[in-house]
Amino acid sequence: MKDVQRSRPLEGSTPVGGGPDVLTVPFGGAPIFMRSRALRPTGKVLPEHARSHNRALVLQTLYTAGARSRADISRETGLTRVTVSDLVAGLIAEGLVVELGQREDARPGKPATLIDVARGAFQIIGVDLSEHQRFLGAVVDLEGRIVSRAEVARDAATGEQAVALVADLVRRLLAATTIPVLGIGVGSPGVVDPYGVVRSAPNLGWTDVKLQALLADEFDLPVHVANDANVAVLAEHGSSHQDDLLLVKIGHGVGAGLIIGGRPVIGGGFAAGEIGHVEVGTDGGPRCACGRDGCLEAWLAVPRLTAQLDELDPEAPDAASARDRILAEAGRRLGIVLAPVVGALNLSEVVLSGPADLLDGALHEATVDTLRTRTMAENNRDLRLRMTEQAEDIVLRGAAVMVLSGQLGVS
Ligand SMILES: [Zn+2]
Repeated sequence: MKDVQRSRPLEGSTPVGGGPDVLTVPFGGAPIFMRSRALRPTGKVLPEHARSHNRALVLQTLYTAGARSRADISRETGLTRVTVSDLVAGLIAEGLVVELGQREDARPGKPATLIDVARGAFQIIGVDLSEHQRFLGAVVDLEGRIVSRAEVARDAATGEQAVALVADLVRRLLAATTIPVLGIGVGSPGVVDPYGVVRSAPNLGWTDVKLQALLADEFDLPVHVANDANVAVLAEHGSSHQDDLLLVKIGHGVGAGLIIGGRPVIGGGFAAGEIGHVEVGTDGGPRCACGRDGCLEAWLAVPRLTAQLDELDPEAPDAASARDRILAEAGRRLGIVLAPVVGALNLSEVVLSGPADLLDGALHEATVDTLRTRTMAENNRDLRLRMTEQAEDIVLRGAAVMVLSGQLGVS
């Protein structure tokens, strides 16, 4: 047997079928789902997990490389032909793999039958709870394309009322699906544990809300819930060619998602990436919603920036430079918070996600300048700070990656 490895489930994923762990597979191959790459597993695989590991390996191979014969898969994975045939038979019975017919080629002997992931057989529900005014959702196909969308106005709903709105949104999305649903992925603000319990999301008035279990009970489908920034970084992981990646998500709040060595990092208290309430510098600063002065969020959150910009007189002769000064100061504060993180982890890529009209200009430049002056040039020469390529669908797409990874071991 090949040297197989076991990974911990992605944060927020419930172990589904076949044991306590969801398996992912090492696969440094070509760009795949949403141009994403497999998340690298860690740890040793136990014999009882070998079958589900190998099953995921077959799925990942097909997913990444496209239609193959059983013999191709055997050659590419190192699994025996008998093992591959056995696994493929099971995957066909589950409806996850289909036979496409015989290969038309000039090789001698009986032409091989091509098989592929049943790319048109399932859809995924993605939900984004990170916006302040509304909850967003989409039906996503297995290739990462958005098939249809829905949203509900939040109307300042909190607590159980907000949970009911999420259920309403999912119900509407399910009604829009046209084929079986693989699972539901949710990106929520706040601190979310690996079992999909939202430990704390102050904006939604949630404390220890078992969102994953509530939705799974209601809809009888696999559900995966994780912090919105941790979900967003899954979508970004593919378009980046980095296995070490920090994504800073700037919206109503400020948070970050982190992948190190191909693995999502959630932290011992499930709050990795919660940089919004890190105080920047020792010179005070604006009062934060948490009661302290000068938290990153108080400098950088979108409502804070827009409130400052709205105070400017657009007719004033220096309006443009006044705007840039406000954005540059926010960018400098972001750079101050990120510099030790970049230095400590020797990151080479940091991605910003949020409104491009605010972030992609003076703010971005000031963050880059601050990072360059505050880190060792020779250690961080390749450092790149860029805007996300995923635009506003980043959490919806990441939620779909989370479901795909959690249910099939494919990313
Ligand atoms: Zn704060």
